[in-house]
Amino acid sequence: MEILKQRILKDGNVKEGNVLKVDSFLNHQMDIRLLDEIGKEFRRRFDGEGVNKILTIEASGIGIAVAVAQHFDYAPVVFAKKSKSKNLDGELYTSKVTSFTRGTTFDVQVSKKYLNPGDRVLIIDDFLAKGQALMGLLDIVAQSGATTVGCGIVIEKGFQEGGQMLREKGIRLESLAIIDHFEDGHVVFRN
Ligand code: 5GP
Repeated sequence: MEILKQRILKDGNVKEGNVLKVDSFLNHQMDIRLLDEIGKEFRRRFDGEGVNKILTIEASGIGIAVAVAQHFDYAPVVFAKKSKSKNLDGELYTSKVTSFTRGTTFDVQVSKKYLNPGDRVLIIDDFLAKGQALMGLLDIVAQSGATTVGCGIVIEKGFQEGGQMLREKGIRLESLAIIDHFEDGHVVFRN
């Protein structure tokens, strides 16, 4: 997605530890016009798949998922929570995730009320690195008996193993920008 790639080149910052910061338009301040274009693009790619629910993980995925849902007939957005909160009552689907950016392992949880066997779920996240976050979300959808239509990722770091691992499992993965590598602090995309 060309406008996304141009924006990453203009405003993205490469940090130590293979981390790309996109705080000015995606992860902290959010550019809503860009998010709307991202939503449109995922609709184009997953059109006709009968998506009726969007699943993401807090916190960075939520804003993106909302923008995407508007292009899927305002499908409900469910976000997996990272900590057990008092607001989560009833039974939960739970899966373990190790965070790439924080290096910690935590449970992600979704109330059983919000995922059902008939659901056709599109999983959305901001970044794909080692694939841990997506594996957790895929596991939760599988536990619920719903169907994962595919995963939509805004920025895939193609030099980390997540993308290959998930594609080898036969999961449909659509990434709007795939980074091949970082070179002298600059982003180089894969074509
Ligand atoms: P994974 O589970 O695929 O290893 O990592 C994905 C998660 O880690 C994403 O939800 C995202 O929040 C975070 N993440 C991974 N790599 C980056 C990065 O380069 N920049 C930012 N901002 N977040 C990242």
